[in-house]
Amino acid sequence: MNLEFNPNEVCACGKVHKTDVENCVIEEGAVNRIPEYAKKYNATKAFIVSDVNTYPIAGEKIENMLKENGIGSVHYIYQQKRLEPDEHAMGSLVMHFDAECDLIIGIGSGVINDICKVFAYQTKRPYIIVATAAYMDGYAARTSTMPVDRIKTTIPAKSPDVIIGDLDILTGAPKYMAAAGLGDMMAKYVSICEWRISNLINGEYYCERVAEFTRQSRDACVQNSEGLMKQDKDSMKKLFEGLINCGKAIDYSGVSRPGGGVEHYFCQMLDMRGLEFGTSTASHGVQCAIGTLYAIKCYQKLKNIVPNREKALKYAEKFDFDAWSNRLREFLGKGAEPMIALEYKEKKYDRDKHKQRLEIIINNWQNILKIIDEELPTVTEFERLLKSIGLPTSLEEIGIPERELPLIIKCTKDIRDKYVLPRLLWDIGELDEVCDNL
Ligand SMILES: [Zn+2]
Ligand SMILES: [Zn+2]
Repeated sequence: MNLEFNPNEVCACGKVHKTDVENCVIEEGAVNRIPEYAKKYNATKAFIVSDVNTYPIAGEKIENMLKENGIGSVHYIYQQKRLEPDEHAMGSLVMHFDAECDLIIGIGSGVINDICKVFAYQTKRPYIIVATAAYMDGYAARTSTMPVDRIKTTIPAKSPDVIIGDLDILTGAPKYMAAAGLGDMMAKYVSICEWRISNLINGEYYCERVAEFTRQSRDACVQNSEGLMKQDKDSMKKLFEGLINCGKAIDYSGVSRPGGGVEHYFCQMLDMRGLEFGTSTASHGVQCAIGTLYAIKCYQKLKNIVPNREKALKYAEKFDFDAWSNRLREFLGKGAEPMIALEYKEKKYDRDKHKQRLEIIINNWQNILKIIDEELPTVTEFERLLKSIGLPTSLEEIGIPERELPLIIKCTKDIRDKYVLPRLLWDIGELDEVCDNL
């Protein structure tokens, strides 16, 4: 299959596959190329953004390199050890900005990049990110997810014009960060599986080339997991490339499907509860990896089920959205309100639409099971993989009681109208039985 995406060609799926990620330098000493790119964008003065953890990694070096090339700089260093990408962080940046700066350079991973992407978008400046860890796949994304009034919100941003993946820097990051990055890549087993299932049931847009590109990027990372744990540079190159490729796959398809499915919503639930109630959280990639494991467990349970029309119809009939809304409020706090409000617009639980989906599901059950078989590893294989890179295999290990698991999974179906595992389980009337008996 041709996996070279040409922006001038219409794919068999009907779309022209384009990406905003143009310049991505993944090599040893990549950071030395910053002056070259600064000149390319005719920069005279750069606004450099880092925090107390990332400044020592490359901050001074970048300032000096720019100076040697006749380019000025102003540096803003966040003093927090654990920076939250919220209104306070965003506001500080605005207040310390020097409007003469015509280039933004961020040094960091998730949080710094999320803040700088929004800032570069708002100030209309070219933007270079120097990655300090292969931590998650959001480097290239056109949006940032940040808490606004303590509710996680997706905010318009711009993709970095240049992504610097310096292998010397990336392999110098703590190993657990690469493990988290790999965890985010592993989510792509479930994401592709659910993309295909939704394509089958709902006729949702799907492109096999983009799916295959994502699978191959993921597999290259998984195959190099051992090397990653030894902080080997070639393995790190594969991981960072994989993370960037997932961002490209989202650009190519124009949908979030290649990047994530229910396991990303699972991660979002834990983050929401953390924000609202101060419950325990882990990094994005770690939470996604655990979410992937539980999703695989649920999908494996599906194999022993034959959907029953009467049971499914009765289940939908008995479903009381108002009662369910109250459970969402209890479990998620304020974050539940936008989810509840969405249902009035999206009507995910509309009885007629449910009947239509149910018929398709019943008639295609063997095909659905085939997709699951083709896309997902077994629970045992996946657990072994997680353990081999030191990732947790249960909620307990990240400080969350296992008894919360069923409700966490059930709530993921209400984030937005995206057809994921719990939606399928709800459609066939098996949501409670599967989730409550994991
Ligand atoms: Zn296509
Ligand atoms: Zn992710």
